[in-house]
Amino acid sequence: MSFEKEIAKRRTFAIISHPDAGKTTLTEKLLLFGGAIQVAGAVKSNKIKKHATSDFMEIERQRGISVATSVMSFEYNDTLINLLDTPGHKDFAEDTYRTLTAVDSVILVIDSVNGVEDQTRKLVEVCRMRDTPVIVFVNKLDRDGKYPFDLVDEIEKELKLSLHPMSWPINMGKEFKGVYNLHNSSLNLFTASQKATEENTVPIADLNDKLLDEKVGERNATQLREDVELLQGVYGELDTEEYLKGKVCPVFFGSAVNNFGVKELLDTFIQVAPRPQGRNTDTRFVAPTEAKFTGFIFKIHANLDPRHRDRVAFLRVCSGRFARNTYYKHCRLNKDVRFSNPYSFMAREKDIIEEAYPGDVVGLFDTGNFKIGDTLTEGEVMQFTGIPVFSPEIFKELVNKDPMKTKQLEKGIRQLTDEGVAQLFTQHGGQRKIIGCVGELQFEVIQYRLLQEYGSSCSFTPLSFYKACWITGDKKAIDDFVRFKQANIMEDKDGNLVYLAQSEWFLNTERQNNPGIEFHTTSEFK
Ligand code: GDP
Repeated sequence: MSFEKEIAKRRTFAIISHPDAGKTTLTEKLLLFGGAIQVAGAVKSNKIKKHATSDFMEIERQRGISVATSVMSFEYNDTLINLLDTPGHKDFAEDTYRTLTAVDSVILVIDSVNGVEDQTRKLVEVCRMRDTPVIVFVNKLDRDGKYPFDLVDEIEKELKLSLHPMSWPINMGKEFKGVYNLHNSSLNLFTASQKATEENTVPIADLNDKLLDEKVGERNATQLREDVELLQGVYGELDTEEYLKGKVCPVFFGSAVNNFGVKELLDTFIQVAPRPQGRNTDTRFVAPTEAKFTGFIFKIHANLDPRHRDRVAFLRVCSGRFARNTYYKHCRLNKDVRFSNPYSFMAREKDIIEEAYPGDVVGLFDTGNFKIGDTLTEGEVMQFTGIPVFSPEIFKELVNKDPMKTKQLEKGIRQLTDEGVAQLFTQHGGQRKIIGCVGELQFEVIQYRLLQEYGSSCSFTPLSFYKACWITGDKKAIDDFVRFKQANIMEDKDGNLVYLAQSEWFLNTERQNNPGIEFHTTSEFK
């Protein structure tokens, strides 16, 4: 197959949702269609059930599952689909944000009963930063939820998205009859079934057809006619260009657990979803069709076996052809590296691969060479951008409880933060180490893993900081500021200066008092 065709057949995306909306269920149904799994129940949820639990087994279980399901690749109708999993728990939000840098589009699952929820808002914000195309799947129509017009309204207002209904539900809950596909004018009748991969569709070109009344009952038919008239007045045909720009989101309704509406979603997805897209670097834009290979690391996973320190780095291929046993340039370290056992994630089994194409995700064994964001090329020195680090929300000072194991602790904390488990800030001109995380659970993961994998024990002293701000600007202004604010000035892992603000008030005051300095709450700024 030609290089262009290899690219054209790939779709790389993620499913995002607030926990419990149905991400795992939908993932499973998609895999069922792809023939990647045979029975329902084969995909394990990677949810951590309890918040801030001390249940270490739970953490281990989570890590195990999230390695296994990090990427799921399958073929459907001659399309190669790479589905990247994202952790649902909010304490691992950073991991999700990074994964979103490696996809070309997303499917957003909304629970029809709960509507827009907290996590949904944050995830959509991240999609917006990159103009990622979004398809919405409104799930759980078999339950009594919000009215579809209200839901559409709520999603548009709360998430500031423009929606374009592709199908429309007929009643809900116990009375749920199915959906009417506005795009190809057919009725998809609902049957509650976990297994069916066939959908029961009836073409109804003219909604005045009496067949409609026969199939869904007179009252529902009348309602649908009214709804569709209203919809047609507002929405015309879907403008795919607008969707690809991230401006309009096609919406489907269904019930993932009953495998209803899923085929419709998948069929449209492979038709409209973007092919592998290019990416920006610090020097230029890289198009996927370029002959030379480039790629970047967006996720690093530690080996589950603590006796082996090797890790798995997840590489997104951006351009060219990636080949096994070939030397590539590791741009940050300026050294050549090659991989003898790169693997893919077909059918959830790890297979050694010979080559990979733009849009693919490759697992690379790593003995500590990689950090999130690292770029590999055939020689050109560049760095893919757009993988920002956000200011953490919780800060704690790292306390070494076993001075005999200082070296191990330093190494461990460096490696764990390379993986992106947390952020490490070191006192400017000093030794204090402060760890910043999004959630409490991450501190437990760090403490546990430092002990298990590095034999070092630590504790954390809570600190009441509000935000970490990367500071840039006039050199003299920065020098003065650093001198005056010594106690609050830290360095991030790359040696960039960071100011830890105690409160919003402090941050605003410093902004006013220091017009020559810019305070950024993400690490990437231009
Ligand atoms: P996730 O946290 O987003 O991955 O959500 P899950 O896929 O684990 O689903 C959460 C719960 O909702 C589970 O108990 C599912 O069985 C249930 N669920 C998923 N889809 C549907 C649906 O279409 N209808 C109903 N009634 N329940 C659903």
